[in-house]
Amino acid sequence: MSRVTVFTLGGTISARGGDAARMTGREVLTALGAPEDVVLHDFRRVPSSTLTHADLADLAAEVRATVAAGSGAVVVQGTDTLEETAFLLDLLCTTERPIVVTGAMRRPDLPGADGPANLAAALAVATDPACRNLGVLVVLADEIHAARHARKTHTTSVATFASPGAGPLGTVVEGEPRILLRPATPTARWPSTPRSGWPW
Ligand code: ASP
Repeated sequence: MSRVTVFTLGGTISARGGDAARMTGREVLTALGAPEDVVLHDFRRVPSSTLTHADLADLAAEVRATVAAGSGAVVVQGTDTLEETAFLLDLLCTTERPIVVTGAMRRPDLPGADGPANLAAALAVATDPACRNLGVLVVLADEIHAARHARKTHTTSVATFASPGAGPLGTVVEGEPRILLRPATPTARWPSTPRSGWPW
């Protein structure tokens, strides 16, 4: 298995029941049963609607450094702005290594919490050589979506992420990623040369 680094940013996957305080990154990984050999960056502990451009610029820089060092990356955050984070990372992090963004729709204390399965699927994709060169990926509910197509389509469903007009690139079947389609170009592209000095 290749190396993987997990960045935890908060969101429902790290919620403690009705308590506003989020779990630490280590608590999230332990609660989700992540293997002990993953490298953890306890990056932020916030609802995803409060992530700022500066947070995402820092995240992109750290993810770029991580993949340049030969590791796959998994970003764990709230689902409300998950598609925006994934699309931005796709623009800012050009690499053949898998970068996977995931989260959860149900809190860890609810029956049928989806966080553990989503994290396990994300780790499987991030460490699978067959999932390289696909750009940044969104993995939830055992589906693998290209960041540039992924959308949150429902407020509460665990199968909320979809790729309207395109469809998922693949699925995760009992822990094993299966890629069905490869995009003609692996990553999203800036429509024009970005202004310098981002975040604006
Ligand atoms: N409100 C949460 C967030 O985006 C929703 C979630 O995690 O699914 O942080």
